Amino acid sequence: MQISKDYELKELNTFGISAKAKFFTVLENEADIIELLSNSEFKNNQKLFLGGGSNILFTKDFDGIVILNKLKGIEILEEDEDIVFLKSMGGVIWHDLVTFTVDRNYWGIENLSLVPGTVGATPIQNIGAYGVEIKDTLDSVEAYEIETGKKKIFSRDECRLGYRDSVFKNELKGKYFVSAIFLKLHKDAQPNISYRVLKDYIEENKIEIKNSKDVADAVANIRRSKLPDPKELGNAGSFFKNTFVNVEQKEKLLAIYPEMPNFSEQNEKGENVIKIPSAWLIEQCGFKGLREGNVGSHTNQALVIVNYGGATGAEVKDFVYKIIQAVKDKFGIALESEVNMI
Ligand SMILES: Cc1cc2nc3c(=O)[nH]c(=O)nc-3n(C[C@H](O)[C@H](O)[C@H](O)COP(=O)(O)OP(=O)(O)OC[C@H]3O[C@@H](n4cnc5c(N)ncnc54)[C@H](O)[C@@H]3O)c2cc1C
Repeated sequence: MQISKDYELKELNTFGISAKAKFFTVLENEADIIELLSNSEFKNNQKLFLGGGSNILFTKDFDGIVILNKLKGIEILEEDEDIVFLKSMGGVIWHDLVTFTVDRNYWGIENLSLVPGTVGATPIQNIGAYGVEIKDTLDSVEAYEIETGKKKIFSRDECRLGYRDSVFKNELKGKYFVSAIFLKLHKDAQPNISYRVLKDYIEENKIEIKNSKDVADAVANIRRSKLPDPKELGNAGSFFKNTFVNVEQKEKLLAIYPEMPNFSEQNEKGENVIKIPSAWLIEQCGFKGLREGNVGSHTNQALVIVNYGGATGAEVKDFVYKIIQAVKDKFGIALESEVNMI
């Protein structure tokens, strides 16, 4: 395991932001983890584990050690007629795992096709798309406690997965490194195509869903047409989470903004909540498609903040805070960032 100094991170985050790590290393296998945990540069510095850098904004240089996760390997541990139980190491590219499963016609993660990033980051924010979240198939998570080096298996319940949320973003933030995840997938056809955009796409294109790859391909096609490709325009997907309010707040807002879109849902605690698309709130404040210098809100997707080239992390952060303030002033709603600002 080699430790580099003053390492440029521009190629390692999908925003394409230039920032330097004081120290930098790569984990290739489990022996590297053991070596890392007793390394003095690791012990004596702030630490940041990095996967695909697709949910991160470097607002400045990182005065500590960045550890890039490249732990590879996918293994089927058990299977019967109905269920496949598999382990994927955390450094596997998430979409490669989706491809591995749909090539074998396993069902469960096909709707999460083309979500960027690594497997190890998926439980951190409970990735979700097109009506499915990782929590629907996640069995457990293998993680190393950074302080003690002890390996622990977290059951799905212990991960406390919620909307773009988990125990790893709260009480255990920065305390564990996710080395692998375990999934339970189905062999019998279990298409989940009720999400409206997906349903419409399948109907309009007269797609017959015969296997899980058909769903994965449909989702991938929709995503390619909707989201800017970070290779062409730096971004980290949706910068903000959607907004949830209670009935009373909804009624107050509807009295002023009768056209406000709102959707009744149940949250993970079984409570009735009302979702207001944050994209609508941002659009109402005039930010959709707005560009300031090298930063902007995407023309078609108000939630996606883009780097038009050469933006600094501080510029992106300033633009983000302007949006947060504008939404607060107009609607009294505090937008929450989905992206980790470092
Ligand atoms: C174009 C685009 C579209 C996207 N669409 C979606 C979407 O549809 N749904 C969705 O949920 N997300 C979406 N995202 C966000 C992103 O893909 C996910 O959050 C993804 O899980 C991040 O993975 P990563 O490996 O890039 O994480 P990184 O950005 O590298 O890290 C994210 C955070 O997790 C921590 N972390 C990473 N790996 C580990 C580990 N092994 N152990 C402990 N901590 C770790 C990091 O320290 C950091 O705080 C999108 C992003 C982009 C750029």
